[in-house]
Amino acid sequence: MTTTKTKKRNVKIDFQKDYAEEIKNANCVKVIDFRHGAPIVHIPQGTTLSGKFTASIDYTIHCTKLLSDGDQNTKLAKSNKSDTEYRSFGLSLAPHKISGYNTCKNATTCADTCLDLTGLRSVYERIHIGKIARTIAFFKHRRWFLNRLETELENKCKHGVKTGYIPCFRLNMFSDLPWEQFIDMEYYYRYQCSRGYFYDYTKRLERSGLQERNYWITASRSETNNAGILDCLSRGINCAVVFGSTRGKQHVTLPGIWNGFTVIDGDKTDLRFLDPRGRKHGRVVGLTLKAASTREYYNAIESGFAIDIHADDHRRN
Ligand code: SF4
Repeated sequence: MTTTKTKKRNVKIDFQKDYAEEIKNANCVKVIDFRHGAPIVHIPQGTTLSGKFTASIDYTIHCTKLLSDGDQNTKLAKSNKSDTEYRSFGLSLAPHKISGYNTCKNATTCADTCLDLTGLRSVYERIHIGKIARTIAFFKHRRWFLNRLETELENKCKHGVKTGYIPCFRLNMFSDLPWEQFIDMEYYYRYQCSRGYFYDYTKRLERSGLQERNYWITASRSETNNAGILDCLSRGINCAVVFGSTRGKQHVTLPGIWNGFTVIDGDKTDLRFLDPRGRKHGRVVGLTLKAASTREYYNAIESGFAIDIHADDHRRN
């Protein structure tokens, strides 16, 4: 018997017994029921969970919660620990086409070095289950998903007002979806005067910059959009650029200038909307390359996704 938790109570569900028939006939990921206002998603054995894992057993989960506290994610935890009045929350969906639905329209070789493949996510298979379930819920039950997300955003804003922090939300932890089309961001800025803020990174450069008063999107460089990134920088939009070194990870130090634009350290905190901005000169948000394996590390540099700080052409810039 498995116990899951909805907003108000613990719910006892015996997945194996209650859904024996559905599970027996399931040959792909699907929503098999709705209970207590939340979908139950079945992920059969053998389903691709990430670039590294396939499901070693059948999983059936009750998808009751969408946002996770920043403390559960290394990147956001760094922001929470930094001395600011902000507290971060993230929405993690499965990147690229992992779930069968494409959540990153402009992904390139970044799919091989995506942060989804690093840290504990490269060690534990189970970490990926929730992301797959939420992604299926987003594509198959959009209305439920957005209603649930709105409720959680309101709750975080309310809690922030009550306990004295400003909530900020990164809805594309491992995806690149146009949330400005789904969520009225401004509402959460005004809601109980919580000043809720949203921020993201994107490879869809047309989305970069300030989308709403409280939604800042940092453009993200890849090997295919270099010209677009330089254009964004010259229009005052900050852009994230990944730096690595063919001499190895330990030899990477961020340069002070890249292509004539000032580089700031993007690894210190994830709160991108607090970064300095120039009217005509955007800042380069320098990130050091992280990869799950040495082979992927060097592939990312070779493909041009990451800038090799020791390459001759870089030294000339
Ligand atoms: S676009 Fe971003 S989230 Fe999507 S695969 Fe590339 S690095 Fe990962």
